[in-house]
Amino acid sequence: MRDAQWPPSLWAESRRSFDSTRVDYARRFDVAIVGAGYTGLWTALYLKEFRPDLSVVLLDAVEPGFGASGRNGGWCSGLFPVEIDTLESLHGHHSALAMQRAAIDAVDDVGRYVSTHSIDCDWKKSGTLTVATNPVQESRLRQTIRLEQQHGLNESDVRWLDATELSRRVVVEHARGALFSPHCAALHPLKLVNGLVDRARALGVEIVGGFRATAINDSGVVGLIDGQSADITAGWVVRATEGYTSALRGEKRSVIPLYSYMVATEPLSDEVWSRIGWAGRETLAEGRLMVTYAQRTADGRIAFGGRGAGYRYASRVSPDFDTDANVKHRIVATLHELFPATRDAAITHHWGGPLAVPRDWHPSVSIDHATRRIAAGGYVGDGVALSHLTGRTVAAAICGHDSPDLSLPFVQHHNKRWELEPLRWLGVNAGLRLPVAADALEKRTNKPARRLTALMDKLLG
Ligand SMILES: Cc1cc2nc3c(=O)[nH]c(=O)nc-3n(C[C@H](O)[C@H](O)[C@H](O)COP(=O)(O)OP(=O)(O)OC[C@H]3O[C@@H](n4cnc5c(N)ncnc54)[C@H](O)[C@@H]3O)c2cc1C
Repeated sequence: MRDAQWPPSLWAESRRSFDSTRVDYARRFDVAIVGAGYTGLWTALYLKEFRPDLSVVLLDAVEPGFGASGRNGGWCSGLFPVEIDTLESLHGHHSALAMQRAAIDAVDDVGRYVSTHSIDCDWKKSGTLTVATNPVQESRLRQTIRLEQQHGLNESDVRWLDATELSRRVVVEHARGALFSPHCAALHPLKLVNGLVDRARALGVEIVGGFRATAINDSGVVGLIDGQSADITAGWVVRATEGYTSALRGEKRSVIPLYSYMVATEPLSDEVWSRIGWAGRETLAEGRLMVTYAQRTADGRIAFGGRGAGYRYASRVSPDFDTDANVKHRIVATLHELFPATRDAAITHHWGGPLAVPRDWHPSVSIDHATRRIAAGGYVGDGVALSHLTGRTVAAAICGHDSPDLSLPFVQHHNKRWELEPLRWLGVNAGLRLPVAADALEKRTNKPARRLTALMDKLLG
């Protein structure tokens, strides 16, 4: 549990001291969960809620919230990483819509949980805006709205705000309007982790830090604690290791880690906020192809994130990758383009972390009833709310409940494995370069970069 391993994030300032439980290795647990991010925590919480008598141990290589759950952009959103038409072609209309609705409902499920248990995580649900700053972005976003409405969502789920309506909420340079969905809240990611840890402990979940699992086998979890081998025996084992999964035995090609990065400004002055507005703290993205995401934090900063970092050969993850000067530069430039009033504000924090990308970008809960082993996750960048749905689903499967969650098509969805290296490295990195090139081309020509986006889908989708 080296301090230096934690990324220098804005959220890490709310990190608390963590007392690891001492485990009795001779004991047999009913359930062992590997990974104490949101997925592991929600799973543990629902297990204890459904069956208080179960013994549950939650193991983390570092501490709860060390992974993406303590580093993310704080969008608790109803987004599902697979577009609704693709979902429909995979699972049929009814199941695709049920999946999308469950993702949307997860936002209010989290909201109810934090309010019932008085978890202070700066929760504010005002929806999300994807702002068009050029005509190509506008037509693509309007097309997304049409598509989502054709496939079963409606005006109250997703609609267009014209430039005037948008400017009443937030003033974005060159904005032509925005896609608006009410299904999103802004929150402080690590404060949510802290609240879930308190609740899990109160319910009797044993949380062990510094336990690095190396393999999951028939008797439980094989791992190392302080360099010594330390095996945990358990009936059920849940793998919730997301972007770090490739380090586990046999999991090299299950998901790839892709790094996403963020910056935070200093708290902005009242004068700057009077020019920007944004009193509702809606989460905000730009309609460019390169993923961007921002929130106005409860303490009056802008936390702004973006993807676009390269993929590391053989799915490597390391604290050395927690910052990236090139991506930082690109994120800050985008922040200044969208909000020129922030140009003089200091950038006080920069950090990043790995998210997990399955070959088809489709999250899944894979349950092996024979061996009692479960793997859960693969949310790409949409795991804040989805991990709640996942945790409840995993707990229902273990407890043998007849839950509607278990009929959702992410349960037992089969993800193809990623290609062997060096093909994986070549294909992913070629695909990752394209959004930046396509955005530049669209801005210059005012025409959609169809060939580049088709190639992007082929390489990454
Ligand atoms: C910079 C960034 C911004 C993001 N922004 C958003 C956003 O705004 N909205 C959104 O919905 N999603 C966002 N995401 C994604 C979201 O944060 C994740 O999908 C979600 O947190 C995943 O939760 P998890 O519990 O499955 O995984 P994690 O939080 O990554 O937890 C995995 C845990 O497993 C532990 N672990 C790993 N390997 C082992 C091992 N071998 N042994 C023991 N423990 C192990 C790790 O230490 C870690 O604590 C973002 C991600 C990043 C990186």
